[in-house]
Amino acid sequence: MNVYDSSRMADVVAPLGYESSETAADADLVILNTCHIREKATEKLFSELGRLRTLQKAKAEKGERMIVAVAGCVAQAEGAEIQRRAPYVDMVFGPQTYPQLPEMIARVTRGAGGILNTDFPVEPKFDALPQQEKTGISAFLSIQEGCDKFCAFCVVPYTRGAEYSRSIKAICEEAHLLIEKGAREITLLGQNVNAFHGMAEDGSVWGLGKLIHALAKIPNLKRLRYTTSHPSDMDAALIDAHRDVPSLMPFLHLPVQSGADPVLAAMNRKHKAADYLDLVGKLRAARPDLALSSDFIVGFPGETEADFAQTLDFVRTVGFAQAYSFKYSRRPGTPAAALPNQIPEEVKDARLHALQEILRDQQIKFNQSLVGKTLPVLFDDDGRHEGQIHGRSPFTQSTYIPLPPRGRDAIVGQELQVIITSARQNSLKGDLAIPLGGVRE
Ligand code: SAH
Ligand code: SF4
Repeated sequence: MNVYDSSRMADVVAPLGYESSETAADADLVILNTCHIREKATEKLFSELGRLRTLQKAKAEKGERMIVAVAGCVAQAEGAEIQRRAPYVDMVFGPQTYPQLPEMIARVTRGAGGILNTDFPVEPKFDALPQQEKTGISAFLSIQEGCDKFCAFCVVPYTRGAEYSRSIKAICEEAHLLIEKGAREITLLGQNVNAFHGMAEDGSVWGLGKLIHALAKIPNLKRLRYTTSHPSDMDAALIDAHRDVPSLMPFLHLPVQSGADPVLAAMNRKHKAADYLDLVGKLRAARPDLALSSDFIVGFPGETEADFAQTLDFVRTVGFAQAYSFKYSRRPGTPAAALPNQIPEEVKDARLHALQEILRDQQIKFNQSLVGKTLPVLFDDDGRHEGQIHGRSPFTQSTYIPLPPRGRDAIVGQELQVIITSARQNSLKGDLAIPLGGVRE
C-alpha cells in the first residue's frame, strides 16, 4: 500500500513539474513515506530525517531550497511529535490527504510555515487523485482502504481510518486504463481487501468475488491477485472465484497471526485456528495448486510456551509457501499495549527464531518442489545480472531465465512457459519451454 501511495504522490506532483530523482541530494522536494505498524519503522524515520537535514542545509548554502515532507502513518499518528523533534520538516501529512499536495507545496513556498495535515477528508481520497501515469507490467490498484477489525495489536484502524470501498465503475475504469498503458497483471489492494463491498451503478453492492469475475473479462489482463485478506472475510463467492477464474493466481496471502485460540481471542482476531484450517481446506479444494502465505506475531502479551508450541504445530499442519513473522511491537494507543504479561524481549527473540526456521524450511521445500515443473512466468524486467531476464511465477517468486537472443523487448509483458531448473529460498531459475517464436534461434 505504501508503494502504491508513493507512486500516487509522484502522480499528484507531476503536473507541478516534479520528476523522480535518483538521489535525495539534488531533490527539490523529498517525501518520506512512513509506516507505523511496528516501532522499528518509526525509529528509522528520525535517523533518516537527520541525514536529510544535512542535505537540506548544504542546499541552503548554495541558495537552493529542499522541501522536506513526512507522509504516511507515522505522520498521521505522531505529526506533532515530528514537528517538535524536527522543526525543519516543512510538511507532515497522513495517508488520506496527499491529494492536497499541490496546495500544501504552494503554502510552503509562500513561506506560510510548517504544515500539519492529518484530517480524514470528506471527499474520498481516490476521487481526488489524478489517473495513474506510469505502470509496469505488474500494477497495483487500490480498491479498498482502512479497516474496522480493530485487532488488539494494530494501528491501522487509527491511522488509515474506517473501511472504505471504491465504486465498481471507478475500479473498472482504472483497470482498463492500466491495461491500456501496458500492465498485464493487476494486484487489487486494500488493508482488508476481502472486506470489499463496492457500489455498482445499479445500486447493488459487490463483494470481491464478483469484482474479480468482472475484471477477469478485460482483454489482455493475464493475471489478478489481491492482498491483504482477513480470514473472517473469505466468503463463498471469493473461494469460488479461485476455482472459476483461471487468471486469479494460485497464491494467497492470508494472515493468521497465531495458531493458538487463547492468543487469537486476546488479539481480537474473530477467528479460531480451526476456522483457518477449514478455510484452507475449502480453498485447496477450489484450487488444488493454491500456495499460501501468512503473517505471524510472536510474543503477543500473555502468549505462553504452550500457545507458541501450538503455533509451530499449526505451521507444520498448513505448510506455507512463504510467510512474514514479527516480534510483537507495543504500539501506543492500541488495546494490547495496555495488557499485562508483556513478553520479555529475549523470549520473543527465541520464539521468532524458532518459527522462522520452520517457515524458511517450508519455503525452500516449496520452491524445490517446483524444480522440473513447467510454470507460466510473466516477464517484467531485466534480471539482476547481465544476460538475464526477470519474471514472476504464479506463486510470486522471482524467476530468472537467460535473456533470449531476440532481446528484452521481445519477452517483457509476455507470459511464457518455463521449465524450472533450480530453486533457492527466494528465487527460481529456468529455461523457456518453447523458444520465443517457436523456433530455435
Ligand atoms: N490487514 C492485514 C495486514 C496488517 S499489517 C491483516 O489483517 O493481516 C501487516 C502485518 O503486520 C500484520 O498481519 C501483523 O502480522 C503485523 N503487525 C501489525 N501490528 C503489529 C504489531 N503491533 N507488532 C508486530 N507485528 C504487527
Ligand atoms: Fe490491522 Fe489487519 Fe487487524 Fe485490520 S485486520 S486491525 S489491518 S491486522
